Amino acid sequence: NLPVIYAITPTYQRPVQKAELTRLSHTFRLIPNFYWIIVEDNQSPTNLIANLLKNSKLNYTHLVAPTPTSWKRKLKEPKWKKPRGVAQRNTALKWLRENRNRSSDCGVIYFADDDNTYDLQLFNEMRFIKKVGVWPVGLVGGLMVERPIIDAASGKVIGWNSHWRPERDFPIDMAGFAVNLPFLLSKPEAEFSFNVERGFQESSLLSQLVALDELEPRANNCTKVYVWHTRTEEANLNDEKALRRQGKRSDE
Ligand code: UDP
Ligand code: MN
Repeated sequence: NLPVIYAITPTYQRPVQKAELTRLSHTFRLIPNFYWIIVEDNQSPTNLIANLLKNSKLNYTHLVAPTPTSWKRKLKEPKWKKPRGVAQRNTALKWLRENRNRSSDCGVIYFADDDNTYDLQLFNEMRFIKKVGVWPVGLVGGLMVERPIIDAASGKVIGWNSHWRPERDFPIDMAGFAVNLPFLLSKPEAEFSFNVERGFQESSLLSQLVALDELEPRANNCTKVYVWHTRTEEANLNDEKALRRQGKRSDE
């Protein structure tokens, strides 16, 4: 029996949200034995997400977890000032701990942000991970490719090519690793935290799970790129704003 891929996706309301999630769901539809855990950064579930999931033909769970107000990005505040997705990813981990069983459920957990670009091959690479698998990520950390460095003799991860905060224990992007489900369930305390330095979310979680020499390199010894940290441009809605000042809108 094929292990299930559990993709955890935090998402928040903005003009491009439906477009992002439509593209993502159409990638996910092509993956066998797939389960989508989508967590809205909101007080309550929205119809937009509920309908999108209902029509998606995917197996899914729809959760909500609002980011605490003190950690919410202020209008005009740069993105990097506050961590994103923390409360949402932890809520998904809690759901897995309450609804999946260490001895009977086999699967792998992947943190799939709503704006990245995923090659289907990525999901073949991660499915049989025993603890934590790692691979390169494109367009992140100020590089074309940020990736683990593999020792040819041992086949083990010995470091990283990262330039941004390379002193992190695991200088890797959220899109660059996946965790075996029973293994994660064997670490009931492991979670993300608001109280870590900027850019240390991934490193802090992985430090709670494994040591460097336990990492399982994937994607042809970390030489292939199957995921890109793409970011979507904000939509220009200048004229929409003008319309709405007149009590009208273009989307109804
Ligand atoms: N996200 C969220 N609430 C926010 C901002 C972001 O739930 O206030 C989600 C977002 O939809 C994405 C993930 O958290 O799935 C990472 O956010 P983003 O892509 O904006 O961060 P970046 O990749 O640019 O660091
Ligand atoms: Mn992103």
